Order: sequence, then C-alpha cells, then structure tokens
Amino acid sequence: MRAVQYVQVGQAPVVNDVPVPEPGPGQVLLKVTAAGVCHSDVAVMSWPADAFPFRLPLTLGHEAAGVVEAVGENVSAVAVGESVVVYGPWGCGACRECSRGMENYCARAEELGIHPPGLGAPGALAEYVLIDDQRHLVPIGDLDPVRTVPLTDAGLTPYHAIKRAQHNLYPGATAVVIGVGGLGHVAVQLLRAMTGATVVALDVREESLKLAEQIGAHHALRSDTQAPGAVRDLTGGAGANAVFDFVGAQATVELAAKAAAKDSSVNIVGIGGGALPVGFGAVPYGTAVETTYWGGRSELIELIDLARQGAVGVHVERYGIEQGPEVYERMEEGRIQGRAVVVP
Ligand code: NAD
Ligand code: ZN
Ligand code: ZN
Repeated sequence: MRAVQYVQVGQAPVVNDVPVPEPGPGQVLLKVTAAGVCHSDVAVMSWPADAFPFRLPLTLGHEAAGVVEAVGENVSAVAVGESVVVYGPWGCGACRECSRGMENYCARAEELGIHPPGLGAPGALAEYVLIDDQRHLVPIGDLDPVRTVPLTDAGLTPYHAIKRAQHNLYPGATAVVIGVGGLGHVAVQLLRAMTGATVVALDVREESLKLAEQIGAHHALRSDTQAPGAVRDLTGGAGANAVFDFVGAQATVELAAKAAAKDSSVNIVGIGGGALPVGFGAVPYGTAVETTYWGGRSELIELIDLARQGAVGVHVERYGIEQGPEVYERMEEGRIQGRAVVVP
C-alpha cells in the first residue's frame, strides 16, 4: 500500500510502498476513507535528530477515518464494513485517567511505550491503518468521513479546551480565538454552539479572518500588538473571559495574557514554543493559565453527536495520497484554509 512517511530527520516526507498490516488479537484493520493533516506534524518534523522520540520511518497522520476491513480475535464491538473514526490519544486503557476516558492524560503511556497513530505508531496517511483496540473506534454511520475526520483532533482538541473554560463563558462573556486554522476554525463554531459568549477571532491572514466571519465569529481582527487594546475596547475595558491560543508562539501567548480579563482563563493549545511567566502580578488576578493536550474518548463521542446536529461544518481541502508531501509544504507556507484531508 502507499503511505506518506517521514523517513529521515530534517528531510521532507515521501510516499512509499509498505506492506498492508494484519490485525492481531484485539486489533482492527481499517481501510482509510479520510485522513486529516495537522500542523503538529510540522513541529514534529522540525525536532532535531538527537531529541527525536519516534522510530523512523514513521507513517504520518493522526486524524483517521475508515471502514473496518478485518478484525483480529476477540473483537466484537465493530463489524466488517462499519464506518468509523479513530480516537487518537491512545493510553493504557486501565489507569485512573484512562478509566475516565481521558486517555490523552494516561499516566502510563510513556512508560509502556504506547503511541498514537502517526505520532509513534504507524499513522493514517496510508491506504490502511491498524488500530490497537476496538475501544478507540467511534462509529459515524452515514456522516461524510472527509468532513468528520478533522473532528478527531482539530475538533476534539478545542472541544476539550472549551469545556474546561465553560464556567467562564456565560452569556455576555467574551472568548478570544487566536489562529483560525484547522483547530481555530472549529473552535469558533464550537464556541457559538456551546456557549453564549461573544467570539473574537484573531489571525494574521486575511483569508482566515474572512473564514472566521463566515463561520460565526462576531469580530475578526488582525493578530498584532493592537489586538489586546481592541479586545478591551470591545469589552468595556474588562478583557476576554477566556482566551484560546491555537498558535502558541511567544507573540501570541503574550497577546493572550494582555487580552485576558481578571478571573479568566488562558489556554495555550498551539505548540509554537511560547511561554508565559505565571505569578502574582504577572497575569490578571484570578486568571488560570493552562496547556491542554487533545481530548477524551467520551468527548469525541459527544462531539460527533454535536456534528450530527449540524453544529459544526469543517472547511476541508481534499488531496490525494500522492500529494501528502505537498500538503505539508502548503501548511508550512500558510496556504491551507481550514483542514487539509487526504483521501487515499
Ligand atoms: P494551522 O496551520 O491549520 O492553523 C494555524 C493558524 O494560525 C493559521 O490560520 C495561521 O494564519 C494562524 N497564525 C499564524 N501565526 C499567527 C499569529 N501570530 N497570530 C494569529 N494567528 C496566527 O494549524 P492547526 O493544525 O490548526 O494547529 C494549530 C496549533 O495547535 C499548532 O501549533 C499545532 O501543533 C497545535 N496543536 C495542538 C494540539 C494539542 O493537543 N495541544 C493538538 C493539535 C494541534
Ligand atoms: Zn494534531
Ligand atoms: Zn492509562
């Protein structure tokens, strides 16, 4: 089968021929119907050789949708032919966090060498992908896999972040979304569907600001040094009650802190390497600063149900598998709108 692989640190990914895997006991083989492409892979592929944590070559792609092709022994929850998406942040399945469905915060994944598909285990940018356990599969019925697959990360990550901030997002409150790309453009829609807050979207690209307005942002503004003042003007001087930074660069985390109100939350979701000093006087009183990673299993099920109600429409660009390497190039150059999805 064809697979988009990162082969050597520092080199662009390539499309290779690799064997189709066979499901062992408890495992499920999916014929990939759609695989979303995330900016995190660009960060992963920028890591130096001496700090690179995964075995190479690595088949990329951690947003997966597919049809069950074959099942291993002791698999009974899914049947051949069923259309599913994959919960990506695999954990041990048994620790306290995993028992709550929060495998993204598994206490033992590192110790046991458990990795998500595309981030250590072979990923979904291929014709077939092997899933370690049936519990990672969420049936999607007749939902379009191409428009649904980004929900497994570009949707689930903001959904988890927004749920944690929901107590701050009462009607009349203001939420700021920094970076209206794959994750951010779903975040804007989720904020509209899940809260009564006014949504202010910030980006450096005109097209992203246009997209933000189309999908329901109340305000779409340039992300620059004037932005915190603009957010204060829109909120009678108070600032935003929740800020979600889907870039995470030094400039944007500082913007986030400056735009935040007292008793608010700042969530740094983007892995752009920025950091905020937290201490008395360094952030507004009562403000929680946090980073979150992906989301929980039950949250993905909730989000798929929300999508079935029509609450989120993911803006997708479709590509073939041979275009996988080109998608990463376009992403680095900021030439993707919404989410790029590879359809093998
Ligand atoms: P993307 O490339 O689709 O979108 C990034 C957006 O940010 C683009 O619209 C771009 O124009 C905008 N942007 C760039 N610089 C900006 C600035 N200074 N101010 C405002 N906007 C700016 O990326 P994505 O796939 O949506 O990922 C977003 C970030 O989230 C990445 O850093 C990614 O690695 C990270 N991520 C984190 C998690 C997690 O679990 N924490 C999960 C997935 C992705
Ligand atoms: Zn991702
Ligand atoms: Zn666990």
